[in-house]
Amino acid sequence: MTLQYTQEQREYIRMVQEFADETLTPAVVSKYDRSGQCPVGLFKPAFEMGLHMLEIPEEYGGAGLPYATTAMIFSKLAEYDAGYAITLVSTFVALRSVMLAGSPEQARRFADIVEPGAFAAFALSEPDAGTDAGSVKASAIRDGDDYILNGEKTFITNGSIADVYVGIFRTADAGNKGLSAFMIERSREGISVGAHEDKMGLRLSDTCTVNFDHVRVPVADRLGEEGAGFKVAMNSLNLSRAFVSTLAAGIMQRALDESVAYARLRKQFKEPIIRFEAVQEMLADMAIALETSQVLIHNTMTMMDEGNLVRKEGAITKTYVTDALQRVVSDAVQVFGGYGVSKEYPVEKLMRDSKVFQIFEGTNQIQRVTIANELNKEYADREAGR
Ligand SMILES: Cc1cc2nc3c(=O)[nH]c(=O)nc-3n(C[C@H](O)[C@H](O)[C@H](O)COP(=O)(O)OP(=O)(O)OC[C@H]3O[C@@H](n4cnc5c(N)ncnc54)[C@H](O)[C@@H]3O)c2cc1C
Repeated sequence: MTLQYTQEQREYIRMVQEFADETLTPAVVSKYDRSGQCPVGLFKPAFEMGLHMLEIPEEYGGAGLPYATTAMIFSKLAEYDAGYAITLVSTFVALRSVMLAGSPEQARRFADIVEPGAFAAFALSEPDAGTDAGSVKASAIRDGDDYILNGEKTFITNGSIADVYVGIFRTADAGNKGLSAFMIERSREGISVGAHEDKMGLRLSDTCTVNFDHVRVPVADRLGEEGAGFKVAMNSLNLSRAFVSTLAAGIMQRALDESVAYARLRKQFKEPIIRFEAVQEMLADMAIALETSQVLIHNTMTMMDEGNLVRKEGAITKTYVTDALQRVVSDAVQVFGGYGVSKEYPVEKLMRDSKVFQIFEGTNQIQRVTIANELNKEYADREAGR
C-alpha cells in the first residue's frame, strides 16, 4: 500500500471495518440495493459511533479528526456500500458548511439537531439549475424579520430523510451575487418531498425533490450576508468533491479486491486466469489507478487540513479519481467475464454505483472548466509578477 497509515488511523479503520462487517453484510446491502430504499434504521449504530461527526470539532459534539483521517475511514466504509457512506458524508458536509458560513450560534444549533442522530442535506440544484448553479430560481423574499422561501430543489441527497437543510435561494436579481444561504429545519411548515429517485446506483442513498411552499424562516437563519450564497455553495462543493473522491477510491479498492480474488480462483485452459497477461494488465491498471487516486486524495485532504480552499486541487482530484473509477469498475466486470454482469456477483453493483461520481458535485466537464480557469488566473498572476 502506498499510503502510510498512522497507528491511530489503522485503529479507526479497524473499528469501521468491524462495524461494517456486522451492519453492512452482503445480504443487507443487496436487499436495499434491490429495493432502492434508504434503510434509515441501519444508520442508528453509525450515529451511536459518531460516524456522522468524525471531522466535526469536539466543541460541536464531533470527534475532531483531520479530514485526511476521516477520508481513510469513509473510503473503507464505501468498500461496503458507497450509498450508505454518502448519506453520512452529506450530513457532515452540510454541518461543516454552516460552520464555514454561519455564526458559531448557527453552527451549534445545526450540530444540536444532527449530533444525536439525524441527517442533513445540501439543497442547491433545481430543475433548470444544475451545472449552471448560479441560475437558481427558488426565491427568498424578505418579510419583516423573516424570509419566505418558495421553489423546487431537485436531486437532493438525504432530501426526504433530513431533519435540517442548507438551502440556496435567490434574494436578488443579480446572478451569482443574488443568492443567499439558509439553514432550514424540516419541521417548518410548507416543506414537502417528492418521490425517491429510482436510480441506477447508490440505491441505498436517498435522493429526491424538496419543495418549499411559502416556508417562513427567520432572518437569523440566513448563513452569512445576503448575496453570499454562491460562495457558500462553492465552499461546500469543494469539501464534498474531496469526499466523493474518497468514496470513489473505496469502490475502486473493492473492485480490485474482488477482481484479484476471482482471477486467482477462476480457471480457464487449466490455469487460473490471473496467469494470463491480458488479465494481469487489467489488474495492474486497476492497482495503479487506485494507488495514484489514494495519494492524490490524501494530498488534497492534507491541504484542506492546512486550511487551503483546494479549488483547483479538489477539481483535479475529483475528475481524475472518478474518471479512473469508470475504467476500474468496467475492467472488474471484464475480469469476471459473464459472471461480471450477474447480480449474484459483487462487481455489477460497483459499476452501477460508480457512474454518478462523474456527475454529482459538479460534472467532470465543469471541473475541467474550473481547472482551466484556475490555471489561467495562476499564469496571469505569474506574468504580472504577483
Ligand atoms: C445521485 C445524485 C445526487 C445528487 N445530490 C445533490 C445534492 O445533495 N444537492 C444538490 O444540490 N444537488 C445534487 N445533485 C445534483 C447534481 O449536482 C447535478 O445533477 C449536477 O450538478 C449536474 O446538473 P444536471 O444534472 O442538471 O446536468 P446539466 O447541467 O444539465 O448537464 C448536462 C450535461 O451538459 C454538460 N454541461 C453543462 N454545462 C456545461 C458547460 N458549461 N461546459 C461543459 N459541459 C457542460 C454537463 O457536464 C453534462 O454532461 C445530485 C445528483 C445526483 C444524480
